[in-house]
Amino acid sequence: MAGEWPKFVFVTGGVLSSVGKGITTASIGLLLKRRGYRVGAVKIDPYINVDAGTMSPFAHGEVFVTEDGGETDLDIGHYERFLHENLSKKHNITTGQIYLSVIEKERRGDYLGQTVQVIPHITNEIKQRITGLAEETGTDFLIVEIGGTVGDIEGLPFLEAVRQLGLELGPRRSFYVHVALAPELSTTGEQKTKPVQHSVQELRRIGIQPNAIVVRSRRPLEDEPRRKIALYSNLPESRIISSPDVDTIYRVPILLEEQGLVRAIEEHMGLQARRPELGDWEDFVNRLVSAPRPVRIAMVGKYVKLRDSYLSIVEALRHASAWTGLRPELVWVEATDIERGRRDLSFIDDVDGVMILPGFGKRGFEGKIMAIQRAREERKPLLGICLGMQLVVVEYSRNVLGLEGANTTEADPNTPHPVIDLLPWQKSIDRLGGTMRLGASPIKLLPGTIARRLYGRDTVYERHRHRYEVNPKYVDKLEAAGLRISGVSPEGLVEIVELPQSENRFYLATQPHIEYKSRPLAPNPLFTAFLRASAGETP
Ligand code: GLN
Repeated sequence: MAGEWPKFVFVTGGVLSSVGKGITTASIGLLLKRRGYRVGAVKIDPYINVDAGTMSPFAHGEVFVTEDGGETDLDIGHYERFLHENLSKKHNITTGQIYLSVIEKERRGDYLGQTVQVIPHITNEIKQRITGLAEETGTDFLIVEIGGTVGDIEGLPFLEAVRQLGLELGPRRSFYVHVALAPELSTTGEQKTKPVQHSVQELRRIGIQPNAIVVRSRRPLEDEPRRKIALYSNLPESRIISSPDVDTIYRVPILLEEQGLVRAIEEHMGLQARRPELGDWEDFVNRLVSAPRPVRIAMVGKYVKLRDSYLSIVEALRHASAWTGLRPELVWVEATDIERGRRDLSFIDDVDGVMILPGFGKRGFEGKIMAIQRAREERKPLLGICLGMQLVVVEYSRNVLGLEGANTTEADPNTPHPVIDLLPWQKSIDRLGGTMRLGASPIKLLPGTIARRLYGRDTVYERHRHRYEVNPKYVDKLEAAGLRISGVSPEGLVEIVELPQSENRFYLATQPHIEYKSRPLAPNPLFTAFLRASAGETP
């Protein structure tokens, strides 16, 4: 690596997880990009899974799928939405990937004669991944977020690697941001700084002196705790940045900019100060928080206890909200409760629109199908995604085509009418990791359809993550019965289905996850149309 580029910002976290490192990382990325730099962001996950694809959404929230079919951590979604850029799967590094590659090299004989160890072999592999990615993608800045909390055993090799990197690159190419929580005592309202002090001490024990600290707290950080944190962290007060709870995550970059976080990075690296262009972003935030008209949306899923499971869908609704002035009020409905009779379908009468959410494994399928039937019969606007589309097809097959017992073979392998089935190539796979139909591929939107009119294009690229497909044998029957196929893959697989607007203002479902590519400044048109329809318009 020659010269003073690319540069790196390392983001670590303290006190507890979920403290907001991902949003901080994404915000720093946005602020650098809006200064005219080329920016990428990487998430390091210190778990042994090779990717997030095999983990339960209950444990880690949504799996975010990249354009190139990576099954990644949901923070990659935040990065893409803030940076307005597609990132590759290489932007999510896990312990599993690092060890897999070191062990493969060892078996190949690349380290012949050596004892292969965490230091230097694992740490070198980590460093190479990070610097290699920055070179390969041609970025000026790569922001590197280290998942977990400082002090975790799993995170140590990564912290050691980024410590070494800082030494090798020098201050003009590296900057360390530590994000930590200052809790507030409910009795006195006092902001306590000891946890931040301890996590900074832990970081310094490992050999990393942070260059700035982002302090998360309920309310803006007061002067006294700021002074204390600065003193104990060996930093000027100007490097202690307050990041209080805010009305929307999209406001965080504005707050960080006001307090000069990126100005500090410029200063530290000897860069000329630049002013970021944030007008359109501020505009978006203002419209989002002041969207006037409420619309009630039922979110029918089965991972509803952990809202992060459907993170990108919720964000896509927010993007659509800012552009339509409609404020979605989400009514979470556990599909299992419907099928077990613990929740009746009257919730459909109380909402303006219904979303049928993605999912795996048959629990909750019948509950979703019941909700779909009621929404269709009552002409409620409906948007189904992935499993949502598959179950729209099942419901239509059963109740309109009259195919009794029609089902997806995911729920019933012996159904007399497998309207949703595994593709032949999926039947022979023997490993479940990374073998679904994944990533972006072209979708041809058929003339005269609502989908084509709303997208305003005849081909779109949306991302997939599924194994089952509409069974080609039933397509003609479905169309003859009135369900319109509006998007198809190059192989002719069904990608989007819809009902005509004479039946329902908006009744559309997509096999791809259209939520992944929705961005604050470029919402997905099907989400905006769904909200409009839910508010009584005909989009
Ligand atoms: N379980 C379905 C499949 O594998 C749908 C997946 C999803 O909703 N992401 O095809």
